[in-house]
This record gives sequence, C-alpha cells and structure tokens, in this order.
Amino acid sequence: MNKSAWKSAQELDYMLGDAGKVSILSCGICANLSDTGGPRGIRFMRKTLEAAGREVVCARSVTACCAEEIMRQALRINAKSIRDSDALVIISCAAGVKSAFLCEPGIPVIPAADSVGSVPVSRLEDPVARSLCTNCGHCVIAFTGGICPLSECPSGKKYEPCARYGERGDMCVVDDSRRCIWREIERRGDLEALRELGRIHGEDSFRRLAPDGSVPSPRFLRRLSGWLVARAGWFARLVPFIN
Ligand code: SF4
Ligand code: SF4
Repeated sequence: MNKSAWKSAQELDYMLGDAGKVSILSCGICANLSDTGGPRGIRFMRKTLEAAGREVVCARSVTACCAEEIMRQALRINAKSIRDSDALVIISCAAGVKSAFLCEPGIPVIPAADSVGSVPVSRLEDPVARSLCTNCGHCVIAFTGGICPLSECPSGKKYEPCARYGERGDMCVVDDSRRCIWREIERRGDLEALRELGRIHGEDSFRRLAPDGSVPSPRFLRRLSGWLVARAGWFARLVPFIN
C-alpha cells in the first residue's frame, strides 16, 4: 500500500488560504490503512478545519481516490456541495490528489497528507514491514532480505554499507540512536550478490524488459474473463482477509 502521513497544520492553513467553506474526500484504502484517510481521517480533518474557523460543507469517504473513475463519480455525486465550497481537501496519497486534479473539480485541490512510501499491510514489527519504498527505480531488496536500505540506512547507500560500517559494533556510526541496519541485511541477504547487482544496474547496456506491444486477443480476454467469473466464489472467500 501507499503509506501517507498528515501534513503540518501550518502547511494546510497556508494552502487553504482564506477558503471559508471546504469539502473533504477521504481515501478508503491505502490512506485508511495509514491512519490518515477513511472515516477516522474525516473526523480528524473536520475537527482541524472547524477549529481553524472553516466550515465543512461535505465530507465523504471514497473507495479509492487514486482511481480516476471513482474520483469522478464521487465528484459527480457531491457536485452541489463541491460547487458551494471554496476548496476540496483530499486525504490520500499523491495518486489520489492527482486523480482529483485530473477530474478538474473547479475549485482548488488541497492535499492533506504526504505520500511517504510503500509498505506491506502488516502488523509485524520487522524492518521488512517498516522500511518504506520510495521508488528509487532500481530495487535491491532481492538481496537485502526484503529490507529497503535507502529507508533504513542514513548513509543513503543501497549496494553496500557505509565506509565506517562496524566501527561502533551493532550501532550506526551516523545516527547513534539506531542500530546499523546492514547487520540485519548481512544476516538475511547476500552482500556479494548485492554488489554484483549494483554493477548490473550501473551498466550502460542496462535495458528494461520490453513487451512486444501486442495486445491480448479478444479470444484470450474472453477466456480470461470466463476464468475469473468461474472463480468468483474463491475470490469472495478472500475478502475477509483483506478487510
Ligand atoms: S531499493 Fe528501496 S526505494 Fe529502491 S525500489 Fe527497492 S524498496 Fe524501493
Ligand atoms: S553504520 Fe550502518 S546504518 Fe549507519 S550509516 Fe553506516 S551502514 Fe548505514
């Protein structure tokens, strides 16, 4: 999921300017799971805006703000309230905010949260679950045991530890409030393979796999949809696990 975190009150106030009437759309999936969106996010944002002397004209939870069609539908359903508002506050990751911009609601779009990276949806206290992916474009976690070094190591290195690695034992030499994550990466991953991966990423000949551009045939799509329909019951049984 895309993890999001609240912006500061000062930033929000600055972006809203003198907007007196405000509508809120809050994402029901990733932002909800990040404790920013969903109904709880609406309650918190309503209180924050009202405390700043603004009137909340309408506040709705939206299934997924990042889906342009869903955003468009939410704007259509709440068109009257949104027309009466001076600003539209979106509680979601940047994808949801972009989706609102694409739909051109006719009033300023104001993000209430920042995207901070992607993480699995998990309750485990583990660096794999904690380390945020910030989309560096050349992923290394195949050889780091699933831990993102960019998120966990203050040196910003991802193919190897910093030059002073190990000088302070298990503790980080840059930030003495944390343990060195590369100790853990060394245990779970493969540092030699990681360096080789760095070499591959840096090669001039590096090219991403490219599909040949052909589109699936109608026959294939019919078979695929038949397959999905036939397994609808099976998918339905998964729903309790993703709620
Ligand atoms: S190395 Fe880290 S930031 Fe880069 S793609 Fe992988 S998880 Fe994301
Ligand atoms: S000691 Fe470890 S965590 Fe700290 S900067 Fe060096 S490699 Fe990164």
